[in-house]
Amino acid sequence: MPDSTQKVTGGCMCGAVRYVAPKPDSVIYCHCRDCRRHTGAPLVSFVGYAAREIEWSGDARQIYKSSANIGRGFCGKCGTPLSWEEAGEEPGGGEIELYTGTTDNPDDHVPTFHIWHDERIKWLETVDNLPRYHRWAHDGSKPYLHGPAGGDLD
Ligand SMILES: [Zn+2]
Ligand SMILES: [Zn+2]
Repeated sequence: MPDSTQKVTGGCMCGAVRYVAPKPDSVIYCHCRDCRRHTGAPLVSFVGYAAREIEWSGDARQIYKSSANIGRGFCGKCGTPLSWEEAGEEPGGGEIELYTGTTDNPDDHVPTFHIWHDERIKWLETVDNLPRYHRWAHDGSKPYLHGPAGGDLD
């Protein structure tokens, strides 16, 4: 069971799909094209977990397979995008990133770095000095920048 003092609750717009999870393992911004397509938002933020840490309730979320081992979760009733999900080698062994915007308390989840900064929309900057990674952060890559890129708009 998630620690009730630190639990993260959330769900979709219509309330059919709900979740409870513990304090997230990570909180990030993602600027990739796929997240943009899935949400329609210029960038997204995620709270990250091992899949087994999340307790889902209500309607089962629907999954759109966006690539071989990546699924995108959403509510089948209202369409709210909910998650990025990487298949694990065993059930519950994969990773799930929940869109911070679907949590009940998004103010509590402050991102700590940016991934896929290379695919960002150039007119959007966030005012922070967080590390920015060209692509992934957890494959040994180093951030290429801390703070806004600036200067690449004509
Ligand atoms: Zn819904
Ligand atoms: Zn993304």
